[in-house]
Amino acid sequence: MKSNDLDIKCRVCLSNNLEIFKIHHFCFSPKDNNWKSYFCFECGAVSEFNSKNEENIYATSEYRDKKNHFNDNSEDKNILPPIDPWSTVSFKRWKHIYDILDNKTTITKKKEFKMLDYGGYNGFLPYAFNQKNKVNSYVADFDKKGLRMAEFLGSKVINLSINSVEEKNFDLITLVHVLEHLDYPKNQLEKLKENLSNEGLIYAEVPNLYGFPLGDPAHNIAFTKFSLSKMFLDLGFDVISCGYTSTPKDSIKFGYFYSSIFEAIYIVAAPTDSRKNRNKLPSPNIPKSIVKFKYDLNLSYVKIMLKFISPNIFKLFFQYFKIFILFSFYGLFELLCLKIFKKSFGGKTIISKLIKKRKNRN
Ligand SMILES: [Zn+2]
Repeated sequence: MKSNDLDIKCRVCLSNNLEIFKIHHFCFSPKDNNWKSYFCFECGAVSEFNSKNEENIYATSEYRDKKNHFNDNSEDKNILPPIDPWSTVSFKRWKHIYDILDNKTTITKKKEFKMLDYGGYNGFLPYAFNQKNKVNSYVADFDKKGLRMAEFLGSKVINLSINSVEEKNFDLITLVHVLEHLDYPKNQLEKLKENLSNEGLIYAEVPNLYGFPLGDPAHNIAFTKFSLSKMFLDLGFDVISCGYTSTPKDSIKFGYFYSSIFEAIYIVAAPTDSRKNRNKLPSPNIPKSIVKFKYDLNLSYVKIMLKFISPNIFKLFFQYFKIFILFSFYGLFELLCLKIFKKSFGGKTIISKLIKKRKNRN
């Protein structure tokens, strides 16, 4: 135990084989000084703790309203759009989630299934799935505004500020970018396991420690493939599939440039015994020292900046530049044509004006 605080343990595996660290980065600004970050030598995850211990920010929509994904320059801050514009991007996540489930499991072959989107906010994911299969869907969240939308879109809703999930026999429970917000996700997963049907599945997706910068003040944990899989295995799940995934590319237009092939990690897991093939854990690749960890992390940041963010921004710049050229050159060309051939429009052209001037001089 090398951490300074004796009671601090890894939020993922609960080990106290931790060491505190700080990352300084010019492009990916870290969390403020109220936060302390610890690397776990047991599972390779990063756990972060806020010494100010801010209370639940999810119930009031404050967490989403604080995010400025849309670069909202609205003049009247009291007038809010009916949905968080970022939802357009997160809605599109349904496609890769559905494709993973389609490739790795048989759930999409079912005509009808029962689904819980835990932390599902506005219920866009079940709304999309419901257009592919018949889905008896539930959305559990703290956010009342989100839940109202989820209900409007046909899901039954569970307000986690008041109730816990009592409903059982879910064929699918999804936790999309939820686990990293929790204090100790093992607790919630252990409970949710009880809500699954015999053949039930969990699909979870989280940012990748080495694919997404630390710094989001709403995140308490940064996972690796190993730490995420190990957590599920420790809870008595079989890992059906674990791999990398990313935010839909449209996010770039919203000023979010991190989309890369290893930005996020997904896992599909089922309680042990319901599946026969027990998947092996991904290799741990845990750095031996905190210095080596910081080196690896900084190297991964370099990779993100050079291989993904820069090309993403360049592509966007080039797209806009092409449109700029089209409009500005065509605009100039049209202006010239209109001035030269003004006569055919009933006016006087530049040429006829010049001839007239010369005549007058003579
Ligand atoms: Zn750990």
